[in-house]
Amino acid sequence: MKSLARKQRFDTVRARHQIVLEKSNHMTVQVAVEPVARNDAGIRVALPILAQRFGERFQQSEALRRQHGHNTTWLANQAPDAVVFPESTAEVAEIVRICADHRVPVIPFGVGSSLEGHVNAPGGGISIDTSRMNQVVAVHAEDLDVVVQPGVTRKQLNDYLRDTGLFFPIDPGADATLGGMAATRASGTNAVRYGTMRENVINLTAVMADGSIVKTGSRAKKSSAGYDLTRLIVGSEGTLGVITELTVRVHGIPEAIAGGVCPFETIEGACNATILTIQTGLPVARIELLDALQVKACNAYSKLGLAEKPTLFVEFHGTAESVKEQSERFGEIARECGGGDFVWATKPEERSKLWQARHDVYWSALGLRPGARAAATDVCVPISRLAECVTETVADLAASGLVAPIVGHVGDGNFHVTMLVDMEDADEVERSEAFVGRLNMRAIGMEGTCTGEHGVGQGKMKYLEYEHGAGLAVMRTIKRALDPQNIMNPGKVIALV
Ligand SMILES: Cc1cc2nc3c(=O)[nH]c(=O)nc-3n(C[C@H](O)[C@H](O)[C@H](O)COP(=O)(O)OP(=O)(O)OC[C@H]3O[C@@H](n4cnc5c(N)ncnc54)[C@H](O)[C@@H]3O)c2cc1C
Repeated sequence: MKSLARKQRFDTVRARHQIVLEKSNHMTVQVAVEPVARNDAGIRVALPILAQRFGERFQQSEALRRQHGHNTTWLANQAPDAVVFPESTAEVAEIVRICADHRVPVIPFGVGSSLEGHVNAPGGGISIDTSRMNQVVAVHAEDLDVVVQPGVTRKQLNDYLRDTGLFFPIDPGADATLGGMAATRASGTNAVRYGTMRENVINLTAVMADGSIVKTGSRAKKSSAGYDLTRLIVGSEGTLGVITELTVRVHGIPEAIAGGVCPFETIEGACNATILTIQTGLPVARIELLDALQVKACNAYSKLGLAEKPTLFVEFHGTAESVKEQSERFGEIARECGGGDFVWATKPEERSKLWQARHDVYWSALGLRPGARAAATDVCVPISRLAECVTETVADLAASGLVAPIVGHVGDGNFHVTMLVDMEDADEVERSEAFVGRLNMRAIGMEGTCTGEHGVGQGKMKYLEYEHGAGLAVMRTIKRALDPQNIMNPGKVIALV
């Protein structure tokens, strides 16, 4: 009965989505999903006030403005009118108050590595660049947490922690800022063991749309005191407030690490091995899928010399004994699912080379089709549906005639497709867009999500209705209540129509 209802809902969703796709046949990806009316009068007044207040930390060069618009993937760049570089929470509050007084959009900016048009300025406005807010404020080693400003990047934090025996595990491929990562609820290769930004942000300080400053919680490990504002701001993509400080969890560097690669005859086999690994409770620290095309790209870009087959990169953390046991258990599971010989990376430098190659997949994919634009999209499904979703997607890509390697943080049921698109070929652009639509709806139809970690930005807004139904209206109510003038990163995440 339950599954019939689910199927009916999926069919309805699919039918409604068909309408979206048909409509989108006339669109190009150059068109912003949600138009935002430009308040020229307000912008004209606010710019000189900010220029006078921030001096050389207020900048308007064309190159800088474009760099602060969206540059990754295929959505058009929509530059802000100016970029301001604050150095404290109080300065961010001042900027937001000036913008609120004149109804000018505010777009927080980390390093701009987000993939769905998140930092675009469709109605113009002010980009708040947090790069000068890059201090580690406190390390509470005894509580396993650190307090940072939002412009600290994940690599900066780990360099800072190097001598403490602690590390921060969340590792999106790019060297993103902690503020940007909290704002997109990012994850990465380690999330299967250590969780995502949702689990690793303990509290944060944010400047809200009226310029007020809010701290969302204490450093206590848990709390039942009221609504969870931390979780509300994490993942809100700058649409509710600007994060100006965060307390994040850190973890002890494991005593022993073991890892390596395992090729499979089929991508389904690799997915099934992942499913079994998770279902049997093997505490794998990383389990990453690369399809044969992505392995080919990595071999060329990162000089790996791997068999060009669907491959799992895995890693285990623990004591010397426990990682040995975990590795053996994984070896058995892999063999059961048609895995070939496991190649161990025993030395730390071999492991670093492998994981650097994994982090560089986006750049290596570009080498597969010089001149093409890379559009990376991600979805996530419950682990039991992983093999089904990936194999349907592989068949869809083949039928669509697209060049698009697949990689995935598959232990979480999360995978990415990097489409390499000739933007001069209108038919190919259209086929790619239609493919993304089907991929998102396939994941939603399998009780998954249209984005496991990249976030919504502009690119995925239209899928939220299918994923959240009535929940989207609640999100809209929250956005209107907290940002009645719609100045916080407008035209992103929630359409306000
Ligand atoms: C090669 C490559 C690989 C990637 N791999 C992964 C991956 O494995 N996992 C993953 O999750 N992501 C991945 N990403 C996406 C990207 O790195 C993440 O989305 C990252 O979290 C963005 O951080 P950022 O500092 O670049 O933020 P930006 O791109 O600058 O901003 C992202 C969003 O957050 C908002 N924002 C930024 N700072 C703040 C702040 N202080 N307060 C409030 N809002 C803010 C912005 O307005 C915007 O909406 C990858 C990107 C690339 C280019």
